[in-house]
Amino acid sequence: MSILVCLDPGHGGGDSGAVGFSLKEKEVCLDLAYRIERQLHYYDGIRVTMTRSLDVDKSPYERSRWANSQQADLFLSIHTNASSDPSETGFSSYVSVIAGSHARRIQCWLHNRIASFLRTFGIMDLGKKNDTETDDGKLTELRQVEMPAITLGSLFITHAKDNVLLRDASFRDEYAKCIAQGIANIYRCRPKL
Ligand SMILES: [Zn+2]
Repeated sequence: MSILVCLDPGHGGGDSGAVGFSLKEKEVCLDLAYRIERQLHYYDGIRVTMTRSLDVDKSPYERSRWANSQQADLFLSIHTNASSDPSETGFSSYVSVIAGSHARRIQCWLHNRIASFLRTFGIMDLGKKNDTETDDGKLTELRQVEMPAITLGSLFITHAKDNVLLRDASFRDEYAKCIAQGIANIYRCRPKL
């Protein structure tokens, strides 16, 4: 038995996402997704697909349609947080407000693991949230997929210290490793021998 994880790097193409200190969210998201994919390959029984593998924009509809057509078991959307207030910092995760208990359990496990990893870098845990708590009031792709779906708000690209971490390749690697370990634990997948 194997599981299929659909990684969804936010934004792309003409949509840069948030920009902080000239670092573009779309680039951070895609790079993180590739690193998570690489880390997931170290485990037995996990396959990976991505909603975009290039610098192109995809609509929420295209993203969710792809995940549904692939019959993914988990949809993991990768974003950074951003704010016009440069003092805002921290990590948050989101599920659709209409998500069921299965998706919320997965959010809980993954969130707690990531939060304790980030605590070692002094990053605050802003909590497990519903998509109604985002600026747009909803995350359409989370609502349209037919599998558990979580969005990671990976630090604030607009915060000086968060931004330094986000542009650091070794931090990205460790963060990706933590996410992959979390997914592998949830689905009881062991490292390849
Ligand atoms: Zn975003």
